[in-house]
Amino acid sequence: MNKYEILKRYFGYSQFREGQETLSDAILSGRDALGVMPTGAGKSLCYQIPALLLPGITIVISPLISLMKDQVQTLNQAGIHAAYINSSLTENQIAKALKLAARGTYKIIYAAPERLETYGFLEFARQAEISMLTVDEAHCISQWGQDFRPSYLKIVQFLRQLEKRPIVSAFTATATEHVREDIVCVLGLDQPEFLVTGFDRKNLYFAVETPRQKDRFVLDYIKAHPEDSGIIYCSTRKNVDALFEKMQDLSIPSARYHAGMGQEDRRQSQEDFVYDRCPVMAATNAFGMGIDKSNVRYVIHYNMPQSMENYYQEAGRAGRDGEGAECILLYSPQDVIINQFLIENKEENPEFTADELAAIRERDQERLRIMNYYCLTAKCLRAYILNYFGEQSLGDCQNCGNCRKEYEETDRTAEAMAIISCVREFRGRYGVNVTAGTLAGENRAKLREYGVAAYASYGSLKDLGEQRVKGLINQMLAEGYLAVTKDKYALLRLTGKSEEIAQGNQAFMVREVKEEFPQPAKSSASSASRRKSDILNSKGLELFDRLRGLRSEIAKREGMPPYIIFSDKTLVDMCIRLPFRREEMLEVNGVGEHKFEKYGEPFLEEIRTFTGERKEKLFFGEQEEAETRNQPGYSGRKRAKPGKSDFFLSREQAEQFPYAEKYLAPELAARLNELRDIDTVKKTSGAEIIRRSQERGLSEERLVDGMRRKFVTEKGEEAGLFLGTRISQKGTEYEDIYYDEEAQKMVLEWFVQ
Ligand code: ADP
Ligand code: MG
Repeated sequence: MNKYEILKRYFGYSQFREGQETLSDAILSGRDALGVMPTGAGKSLCYQIPALLLPGITIVISPLISLMKDQVQTLNQAGIHAAYINSSLTENQIAKALKLAARGTYKIIYAAPERLETYGFLEFARQAEISMLTVDEAHCISQWGQDFRPSYLKIVQFLRQLEKRPIVSAFTATATEHVREDIVCVLGLDQPEFLVTGFDRKNLYFAVETPRQKDRFVLDYIKAHPEDSGIIYCSTRKNVDALFEKMQDLSIPSARYHAGMGQEDRRQSQEDFVYDRCPVMAATNAFGMGIDKSNVRYVIHYNMPQSMENYYQEAGRAGRDGEGAECILLYSPQDVIINQFLIENKEENPEFTADELAAIRERDQERLRIMNYYCLTAKCLRAYILNYFGEQSLGDCQNCGNCRKEYEETDRTAEAMAIISCVREFRGRYGVNVTAGTLAGENRAKLREYGVAAYASYGSLKDLGEQRVKGLINQMLAEGYLAVTKDKYALLRLTGKSEEIAQGNQAFMVREVKEEFPQPAKSSASSASRRKSDILNSKGLELFDRLRGLRSEIAKREGMPPYIIFSDKTLVDMCIRLPFRREEMLEVNGVGEHKFEKYGEPFLEEIRTFTGERKEKLFFGEQEEAETRNQPGYSGRKRAKPGKSDFFLSREQAEQFPYAEKYLAPELAARLNELRDIDTVKKTSGAEIIRRSQERGLSEERLVDGMRRKFVTEKGEEAGLFLGTRISQKGTEYEDIYYDEEAQKMVLEWFVQ
C-alpha cells in the first residue's frame, strides 16, 4: 500500500491537508522531522501514516493519559493495531501489553515519558525493531514553553540507550522561535525537515465582547446553541464553580473541570464531556490539553487569558473537524488586574535562578500586555493573531467580530497630542490609570494625593471621558506611539514615534464603531460562522438528525465518544451524497474501509429507508442558500445580517470607480465598498477578492521553506496582476499581489449586477 491508499482506506480521507504530505515523505525517506502546526491541523496523521509504512514499530511520546486513550481508540476504530502503556494500566496489564508488543502485535505504541526509564519498557525497546520515535506536544521539552515537563528530558536518555537510533519526529502547535530551537537542540534532531504551516484557522470566528453581565451572555449563548458542544474557560476555580451552579440551575447538561477537584471527579467530568453526555464544559485552563474532541462548536473565554499563546491554543480547541466554530472572549479591564496578580504570585520553579525568574516575569507581563491589546484593537482580530505568530496578514478577514462591525475612521491627532504632552509632563511617573484620570479631570482620592490638578494637562480631555481616553492610550500603545516600562507598574513613556505626532508630522487615526450601527453582543456572536450543515435543506437536516441519533445509539452501546465513530462533517457528507451501497459509502469523506465494516450498514439502511432509495438533492446550491438565508424569518443556524444582500454594484455605481495605477486587494475592496449602498449591501473584502482570484487561477499561495508565499500565475499576469515588494511593520520585506488598471476593471466586473 502507498500513503494515499492508507489515507483513504484507514482514515477515509481523499486528500492530505497542508503540510501532511511533506512531513510524511521526509520521515519515509529516513529523515528526522519537526512539524509546527496549529491545533486541529492534523498533526497525528503526519506520523501515523509513515508509522504504518515503516518496517518496525513507532513509539509515540504523549504527555497525557487521556490524550493517548483518545488516539488509540481512534486508531483501533480505523483498524490499526495500536496500544498505550501508562500508569492507568496495572503492572500485569503493562507486562501483557509489552509481551504482545515484543511479538509485533502493534504498529504504534503510545507511552508516557515516565515509562521510558522503566526496566520493562527499555528491555522491550532494545529488542524490538523501533523505526521511529515521535514526540507529540514537543513543546513540553522546552523550559521556555508554557507547559515544560521535566519528564520529557527522559526521552533523550532513552534514545541513547537504544542500539540503533530510530527516526525522530516531533510535533507541536507552539510557534515561538525559542521553543522550536529547544526542541531541535534538546531532542538532538538531525537536520530535520522543518515545516511550519500557516496558523490561520479559517473556520474559526473570533470576537471580543464586553457584556455588562458575563453570566447572562454565556447562559444566553448556550441557550441559543442547544445542539452544540462548547467550552467556557474561566481564570479561577471560583468562577468555574459559580458558572457551573448556574448552568445546573437551568438544567443545562454541563460538566466542570479544575485542579481543585479530585482525580476521579475530573476524569468523570472529562468523559461526560467527550462522550457528549454533557456537551457544555466550564473549566479552568487545567482542562484541555488531552482533549481531541473534534466537534467543539464554541470556546468562550469568560476571562482574558494570560497570553496570546494560551488564548490561541485554548480557542483552537473549537472546530477541529474543520466546521465553522466560534471563539469569543469576554473582556473586562478587571481581568488584566487578576492576571497581573496571578503572574506575580505564580509558583516559582526552583530550577531557575533569581535573574531568570525576573526575566520570566518580565516576559509574562509583556505577553499579558499584548493579550490586552488584542481585546482593545479595532482592527482585524485574525490579522492581529497571525501577525503575533509571525505571519503576514493584511486583515479584513470578514470572519471576526471587528471585520463585521461597521467602523469609521476618525482623526484623533489632537487628542493624541494632549496625551503625549501629559505623559511628558509626568516624566514617566505614572501609568495608564492616573494619566487617563488626569486628562479627564477626575477627582478621586488617589489623584488628589498625587496632586495631578496642578499639571497643565489636568482636564484637557474632559469632554471625552475617562474610558475613551483610556481607549485612546491603549490604541497608542498598541501602535507604538507610547510604551510602558516592562515591570508590573507599567509606567507610560514616550517613544520615537510619539515625536512624529507631537510635531504634527503624523496623524493619529482610529477606527471607531459607528454609533448608528449598534451591534448587540448576542447577534454579532451567534450569526457568525458557517457550518457544513447549513447547506442542508429542511429534509436534509431531518436526515442529518436521524443519522446523529443512530450515531449516539451506537456510541452508547460501544462506550465510544460519538465523534470517534463518525464526525458531523462525515454525516453531512452522507446527507449530500446519499449513498445506498458500499462503494458509494466509501466515497464519503471520513469513511474508511474498516469503519465501513463496523458501522457502515446501519447508516446505509437508514439512508435507504429515509429516501426510499430515490436520489434527491437535500442541500442548497450556493445561490439558493444565500437567497433562503436572506428571507425574513429564515431560522437556519447561520443568518446573514438581516436584510443585507451580498456585495454587488450597479452599473452606475461601478462607473464611479476611482482607478489607480495599482491597488492591493484590501485597498481595492475598500474602494469598492465606498461605492456600495451601505444600507442594503454587505461589504466585500480583500480576502474575498483574493479568494476569487485564486478560484479563477490568477494567483495562488504556496509554502516555500515553511513560509506561505503568494504567486501570480501566467494567466494572472495576462490579466494584470503583479507582485510588488512591501515592508512589514517589523521592517522585513515581503511580496504581495497588486492589481493594475486592467485587473481592476476585471475585478469590478465580477461584482456588477
Ligand atoms: P492536531 O494534533 O494537529 O491538533 P489532529 O491530528 O487531532 O490535529 O487532527 C484534527 C482533526 O482533523 C481530526 O479529526 C482528524 O481526523 C482530521 N484530519 C486530519 N487529517 C485530515 C485530512 N487529510 N482530511 C480530513 N480530515 C483530516
Ligand atoms: Mg495532536
